[in-house]
Amino acid sequence: MSLFGLEDCTALRQVMPALATPGADRDGVNFACPKPGLLRDPLPIRSCAPDLPPPPREPGEHAMTRGLYPRLLRYVKPYRGIFALSVLGMAISAATEVALPAAAKPFLDGTFVERDPQFMRWVPFVIVVLFAVRGLGMFMGAYASAYVGQRVVQDLRRQMFASMLALPQGFYGEVMSGKLISKFTFDVTQVSSAVTTVLTVLVRDSITVVGLLGYLFWLDWKLTLITFITIPPIAFMVRVFNRRLRGLTRQTQRAVGDVTQVLQESIEGQKVVKIFGGQDYERGRFEKAINRVRQFLLKEQAAAALNVPMVQVLASIAVAVVIYRVTLDVQADRTTVGGFVSFIAAMLLVLAPLKRLTGVSEQIQRGLSAAESVFGVIDEQAEDDRGHIELGRARGELCLEQVTFRYPGAERHALEGVSLHVRPGETVALVGASGSGKTTLANLIPRFYHPLSGRIRIDGHDLEAVRLASLRANVGLVSQDVVLFNDTISANIAYGAKAGASEDEIVASARAAHAWEFIQALPQGLRTMVGENGVKLSGGQRQRLAIARTLLKNAPILILDEATSALDSESERHVQAGLDALMQGRTTLVIAHRLSTIERADRIVVMDRGKIAEAGTHAELIARDGLYARLHRLQFSAQP
Ligand code: ADP
Ligand code: MG
Repeated sequence: MSLFGLEDCTALRQVMPALATPGADRDGVNFACPKPGLLRDPLPIRSCAPDLPPPPREPGEHAMTRGLYPRLLRYVKPYRGIFALSVLGMAISAATEVALPAAAKPFLDGTFVERDPQFMRWVPFVIVVLFAVRGLGMFMGAYASAYVGQRVVQDLRRQMFASMLALPQGFYGEVMSGKLISKFTFDVTQVSSAVTTVLTVLVRDSITVVGLLGYLFWLDWKLTLITFITIPPIAFMVRVFNRRLRGLTRQTQRAVGDVTQVLQESIEGQKVVKIFGGQDYERGRFEKAINRVRQFLLKEQAAAALNVPMVQVLASIAVAVVIYRVTLDVQADRTTVGGFVSFIAAMLLVLAPLKRLTGVSEQIQRGLSAAESVFGVIDEQAEDDRGHIELGRARGELCLEQVTFRYPGAERHALEGVSLHVRPGETVALVGASGSGKTTLANLIPRFYHPLSGRIRIDGHDLEAVRLASLRANVGLVSQDVVLFNDTISANIAYGAKAGASEDEIVASARAAHAWEFIQALPQGLRTMVGENGVKLSGGQRQRLAIARTLLKNAPILILDEATSALDSESERHVQAGLDALMQGRTTLVIAHRLSTIERADRIVVMDRGKIAEAGTHAELIARDGLYARLHRLQFSAQP
């Protein structure tokens, strides 16, 4: 497995959450949705959301072997010119393979037996030419087929990546990223090597075999028939082995995926591993994974390695028969030295390509099971994006109507009958115990997930009817874990759709986010590379970069999910200043632990086990002495 997988795994993790950034309007306080009586209506509203997509399968489990060949061929089609060249090269090298033993007879008889001086002068020259042509053919065949193979790998990887970027959020919970990565690194190369090997074997070896067999029959058809009686038992043995290999190959692929997974987790979580003394646990897990890889690969090797000696033993019987027959012939003066050598040479030469031909099914199986896994990723259902409404710049009104949501596979509803109306420009604070559904609610706004029932509206449009890109362009998101890409600070601020932003705009956003001060102090300023996921920056600095990025995006709706929870109070103050700038004139859903943020919100919504327990201003809720008052006493009393 290549390091390529490791370098890319963090990037992979980063790509998905960094979809959104922020936006503009502030107004009064209101709780109920515009439609009267909605909140109090106990009847659930007709679901306006399509059903949740079926739980994602592990890609690669698709049963579609039959369509695989034509589909693979379609990938080769654009390179058919080069492909033809490689076939031509292989045909040339195969023809010379047949020419060698065929030439041996006249060579030997002409030189050693008849001692023809004219002929003897030509022999060395012909040998060199023969090998030169053979070399050219071999090179052409090998290079051109590698060219096609690598092109196919590139095309497959490009498609897999595009498909991966379009996967719904829920997919990532189901399929472990390490396994996904190993499909990109390992499986895809298996496809190409299978394609090139199979091509080589089928073209070059079958021409060789047909040519040599024809020659053998021409030399002595009876003898040829006798020797080739050994072929059926050889073929049978090879088949038995190959059947076993097929299963082993698939298991090897999975085991390699497990290794990648453990590696990735250990590398990314190395601090946790260190601080908790998890080395033994990780070593154990890794040991188990590499042990499985070894076991399956060795079994594969054993099956493959047994193949050769067994075939050779059987073949030696054939050789023995030939030698016995020929010595009889020589005694009877029915054959020449050249004829004998030529026959033996042709027979020995035919064995290797013949064996490869019988073994080609193993290669095909290997390639097919890898192709299955690769196509599984390509075919994975993309995020549902059937909406057609282009929002432009939204006013930023949000309305949740009896929204219910359950994570795929979860037992409990994460949200149950949540109704909430947020006016353009209003700031609503979501509070509640951990696990009460705050993040889940926030995740529904950019449609990372779909409600099970109920509906969400933005500016009066059903979210499902809005084009995904248009919706997400209107939503800014800053959460606790900041995702930074291994690029410059300026590229991290001007990310995605804002990649073309001018330096002035970037600096203005950085200033507003209170990030300019520290950026300026860096030796290369905006051109500083942040390191993998921003390891070279402090938590507060990373958070302020995320805010600058969101400011630059300037979306009218803003979601702040515990944006400052991971920070100490000193950096929190800096970040808070940036957040205040960010919230100006935007509809904001803020999930915060900081009392001042919550108190200043236009409205506080208290979540409890997926439901809205109460709502109102800080003063109202304190006066009410309900859940909020209790939470407030518990959580916030310690804060200044
Ligand atoms: P909060 O943000 O208020 O702490 P969350 O919205 O993250 O709460 O979680 C609400 C509930 O949904 C919890 O019971 C949690 O266990 C569950 N949950 C959260 N994320 C997932 C997920 N990806 N898959 C399954 N269940 C989840
Ligand atoms: Mg949360």
